[in-house]
Amino acid sequence: MKTTGPTSDQEALGDQPQFSILLPPPNVTGRLHMGHMLNQTEMDILTRWRRMSGFRALWLPGTDHAGIATQMMVERQLTAEGTSRQKLGREAFVERVWEWKRHYGGAILDQMKRLGASVDWSREYFTMDERLSVAVREAFVKLHEQGLIYRGAYIVNWCPRCQTAISDLEVVYDEHKGHLWEIRYPVHEDGRETGEYLTIATTRPETMLGDVAVAIHPEDERYRHLHGKKLRLPLMNREIPVILDEWVSREFGTGAVKVTPAHDPNDFALGERHHLPSINVMDDTAHINENGGAYAGLDRYVARKKIVEDLEAQGLLAGIKDHTHNVGHCDRCKTIVEPRLSTQWFVKIQPLADKAIEAVEKGHVRFTPEMYAKTYFEWMRNIHDWCISRQLWWGHRIPAWHCAVCHKITVARQDPTNCAHCNSDQITQETDVLDTWFSSGLLPVSVFGWPNITPENRADFDTFYPTSLLVTGFDILFFWVARMIMLGCWFSVDVPMPDGSPRPLSESVPFREVYIHALVRDANREKMSKTKGNVIDPIEIVKQYGTDAVRFTLASMASPGTDIAFNVARTEGYRAFANKIWNAARFLFMNVDRAAEVGIKGPFEILRGHGKISLINLPFIGGEGIPMEDRWIVAMLYKTAGQVNDALDNYRFDEAANEIYQFFWGSFCDWYLEIAKLRLNFSPTPSREELMQREPTSEEERALDGNSRAARALGVFVFVFEASLRLLSPFMPFLTEELWRAVFDGEPPAKSVALSRFPRPRVASTGSEPIFEQMEVLQALVIEVRALRKEVGVEERATIPIELRADAQLAKLAKENHDIIERLARVTEIRFVETITGGLSKHHTASFDVAVVYERTIDVAAERERLTKDIAKYEKGLAAAERQLGNEGFLSKAPTQVVEGLKKQEAETRLLLKKAREALDNLPQDENQASEA
Ligand SMILES: [Zn+2]
Ligand SMILES: [Zn+2]
Repeated sequence: MKTTGPTSDQEALGDQPQFSILLPPPNVTGRLHMGHMLNQTEMDILTRWRRMSGFRALWLPGTDHAGIATQMMVERQLTAEGTSRQKLGREAFVERVWEWKRHYGGAILDQMKRLGASVDWSREYFTMDERLSVAVREAFVKLHEQGLIYRGAYIVNWCPRCQTAISDLEVVYDEHKGHLWEIRYPVHEDGRETGEYLTIATTRPETMLGDVAVAIHPEDERYRHLHGKKLRLPLMNREIPVILDEWVSREFGTGAVKVTPAHDPNDFALGERHHLPSINVMDDTAHINENGGAYAGLDRYVARKKIVEDLEAQGLLAGIKDHTHNVGHCDRCKTIVEPRLSTQWFVKIQPLADKAIEAVEKGHVRFTPEMYAKTYFEWMRNIHDWCISRQLWWGHRIPAWHCAVCHKITVARQDPTNCAHCNSDQITQETDVLDTWFSSGLLPVSVFGWPNITPENRADFDTFYPTSLLVTGFDILFFWVARMIMLGCWFSVDVPMPDGSPRPLSESVPFREVYIHALVRDANREKMSKTKGNVIDPIEIVKQYGTDAVRFTLASMASPGTDIAFNVARTEGYRAFANKIWNAARFLFMNVDRAAEVGIKGPFEILRGHGKISLINLPFIGGEGIPMEDRWIVAMLYKTAGQVNDALDNYRFDEAANEIYQFFWGSFCDWYLEIAKLRLNFSPTPSREELMQREPTSEEERALDGNSRAARALGVFVFVFEASLRLLSPFMPFLTEELWRAVFDGEPPAKSVALSRFPRPRVASTGSEPIFEQMEVLQALVIEVRALRKEVGVEERATIPIELRADAQLAKLAKENHDIIERLARVTEIRFVETITGGLSKHHTASFDVAVVYERTIDVAAERERLTKDIAKYEKGLAAAERQLGNEGFLSKAPTQVVEGLKKQEAETRLLLKKAREALDNLPQDENQASEA
């Protein structure tokens, strides 16, 4: 997202850049899952960050009426009540669905509210709202007027449970262990059987009831003598022709293919080529219909069983082979899909697709990760006409009326009373509704007022269209993303640019960027699924760890193209981070109280008094005499803000979260606050009167100096803490809101931290680079001393002197900041030396040598016991080795290297024994007396 932010706080509102983003509308029937939580966390972080960076940010929420899913939900309820939608009738059923929606439809948005989603709830939409329905109708009528909508009989994927056509994208294929039935069709000549058979193979024997031919390859030598012959269709006793078609594969099955145009897309094409009739043998529920002879009324699988039995009885079953093949299931209800001829409405997709391809080719829409552009092109370049009709009751009913007199169709913006062709009033509305994606594909234009855009109400469209970004999952790239691009580019051209000029393609696209988010998997990188039982419920996890910690976990792992292995151990870690922030706040307020007790309100007043939060130019940031830790932490803050901005600009949520984490926990809490504690000492201040009566060098005056030092440290503390809250706010909105209000003692300069300014990177003061370097050296020194202390066993609380060999520059730095080193590494004194005293444990780095001066005290009794044990062990080992080496038989048989190894081991043990005996001799005799090791 390479949008440039405003350059100054004073920028005019009119030039305010916009950031708009559409929530992929969840189904009204939906419940929040981890995928939603990731996607919404990402959208929320980006929206909050843009808003805080001076953008006019809009995140627009809504829900989808989800035709099939919602209808199914209510149908289940009706079944449980012992009734059905058919018994209820269309009108009552639709009313019932609305009632369901009013009751339960808001659940998923309520869940979203828990996650802190900063959407504009005043703009919440539902795809069946009146306003959006107008857009759906206009789009349909317009496409019809443009000759881009037609109606025809084609093979569609039919779900017998949902009783509707479903799109190719809504069919999921599973590998299925089925059979290949081989059936003999008797050859007929002059109406009589010749005694010969042509054997065909099929995976769906029940469809044979609708066979109209058998096809063979014209060059298949096996069947050359059957050219022009006829066959008797078993069970139906219908005479059908043998046809020749090069499409037939000679290798598959027997090389002879039954042709059922009404139940298979390939057969349908064959039927068209050979002008064959189509016989539909099934009804909407996949029961055999009146065209199925004796099998009429049977369910498709019952019919299958009976047909196979009957064929066997008649000696027409040539064989049954095991056969593994892919079977399509309805994505919604998992019922096996039945390819079936049916009359549907289609959108002629080509002109729309071409424009949508061009828009991406020209870079008007960009994909992150980039590879999704390739997937998009592949699909768009092989796109089929879009079947937009569904045989459902819940949805946008197609605005077309059939005439009983002239049989023509009237499509209209207003419900007509008469046929547009013959003026008859014998018209009835189409019963089909539109595919759900037809309305959701229009959302980017319809939510901003299309098609009713007038000069008076066009502000929204002008401000927010094209939207800036779409964040979504790859699974709806075609369902939704591609269709929004097609419909957006097609219809937004209706709206000229604000200056009246025609809308170019670059301004017609529904969004400028598409960010495809990754999958959330379980801790073992397995896909979450109900069958595996590894599904994590975001609401449960939020209850357990808090929204902020869960959001931060997702952000800390989110980057383009990388799936997330969600591990609660990490969430625990980020809950600890949230606690760290609370503790820092507690420490801050404690110091504020202590300052107030001695009459210091300064640092706090500075924050509040400014009226707005940019207090970057506080006097203590630059200049001489300012403690280096103050200059350093402020410079670090700006540096971090820069890194977070860059990371978010590139969808590196992980980097952004980690920078903030390192800054707050590492730089701020572990280093800065530990150093600042040296100065955070408030002593009671004498009154002016008291002060006047005392000597100028008195204790009290020194206390006053101390207090002003403490006040300044507190000032920096408050300043950096408050800025950190703003930095953290897009990631952890709940905690930061609460603490931010507390920092301002209930009188914040903005309504919410979310409406304050995001910390912006800037050069803190001249020469911030040397500060980083200097601080790094000091940190390295402290780290080395801490490591040395551990190595030589200095007790945790003990303080010790150190020896330091350093060049003049570092020596100066260490002298100036000796109190920091002393405090953080528990050092009593820094001895600057030319060479480290021999015998001391030391560490060597590129810029210094350091050693701890430590005399270890030991427990003499324990040491004597240890040494005595060691000596006994060595003596035993030595005796064994000597015995073995003195054994002539062993020496003559053992390989040389074994003997050599044994000799080496003997020598080593002898040395260890000697050392242990010496150490024991050197232990003091009086056990109560500590000694030098
Ligand atoms: Zn279904
Ligand atoms: Zn008519």
